[in-house]
Amino acid sequence: MDTEVAWVLSGAVGLVLGAAITFIWKADEKRQIEPEAVEAPLVPPGAEAVLRSLASSAVIVDTDDEVVQASAPAVALGIVREGELHPESLVELVRQVRRDGQIREADVEVPIKRSAPLQVHARVAPLTSRLMLVLAEDRTQAQRLDMIRRDFVANVSHELKTPIGAIKLLAEAVGEATDDPEAVTRFSGRMGDEAERLTRLVQQIIDLSRLQADTLSEDAVTIKVGELVAEACEHSMTEAESKAISLRSSIDGDLFVHGDRAQLHAAVSNLVENAVTYSPEQSRVAVSAKRVEDDVKITVSDNGVGIPASELERIFERFYRVDPARARSTGGTGLGLSIVKHVAASNGGSVEVWSEPGLGSTFTLVLPAFDPEIDEEK
Ligand code: ADP
Repeated sequence: MDTEVAWVLSGAVGLVLGAAITFIWKADEKRQIEPEAVEAPLVPPGAEAVLRSLASSAVIVDTDDEVVQASAPAVALGIVREGELHPESLVELVRQVRRDGQIREADVEVPIKRSAPLQVHARVAPLTSRLMLVLAEDRTQAQRLDMIRRDFVANVSHELKTPIGAIKLLAEAVGEATDDPEAVTRFSGRMGDEAERLTRLVQQIIDLSRLQADTLSEDAVTIKVGELVAEACEHSMTEAESKAISLRSSIDGDLFVHGDRAQLHAAVSNLVENAVTYSPEQSRVAVSAKRVEDDVKITVSDNGVGIPASELERIFERFYRVDPARARSTGGTGLGLSIVKHVAASNGGSVEVWSEPGLGSTFTLVLPAFDPEIDEEK
């Protein structure tokens, strides 16, 4: 019995001791972590207000990479998602800066749903000993434009080289054929054609660059649609007559548009010129204009070769030609339709196309209708 009591007693003492040790240890542990937990990193006074009013993307993160503050554009840009900095490459950049205090810059890709990732330029700097400032700028559009510009310059150089090379070769041929007057006449005629092609190409490149420079035309005047159509038909009349193509126009009432005269003249003329160029002899080209609700629709229809459906998307691209071999014989540059598309956009309109190989094509230039009596008052 005595031994039993001794066992129970020693057990009880052990239990109490164990509980006491656990309690002290836990209390100590609590003491150790508590100061850390209460001392939340503080955003410097004023920084919060600055961040809120920023039009650019700025984020402040703490030592755990948690977002403490973010400007609205940063959230819209997608670099802050559910309170976390995003993507991982940006978080890694922040960690590097935290390690050595060196300000760093980098280009990061921010993946977005159902589209190509955004190209973001980020700059990370320490704000306080605990906080990091991330500044980000969306460069997607700028990089895209840069690429288009580089492509354009490469294409222009390539396209210019062809007629220049041809003129050089023809000049050599003329030099070697001095005792053959017939050959000289033939070669000089071809030189003239190439020079004309070159002139046309350079003019179209200048037109296109001007169009791309200003998004909305500043030289807007009121234009009678009938005059635009008559001038465009006049421009292609000789070519149409040489192919015995009947070129007809019909205008539905007194129609007006408001826009850049030279640009709109170039657009309608390009459409009529294409219709004549891509039509066989003795066919018909019809140009019509009518009012449809708030728009004026200028339609150019032909019974020519037509365009395969797979190419329809691409014909408005610069330098794009459905059949480059044929384009050489027609003197095409591949710039006409991209000029039409740009003119339409800079004058508040659009261009539509219907085409069927072997049946023909219909291009429609849609422009906002202008009512001189009503609209000029505004
Ligand atoms: P191009 O100077 O070669 O005519 P465009 O930009 O005007 O350049 O046209 C691009 C391509 O679209 C042309 O090469 C041609 O193949 C096709 N195209 C344009 N208009 C017509 C049309 N009316 N009928 C058939 N094909 C056309």
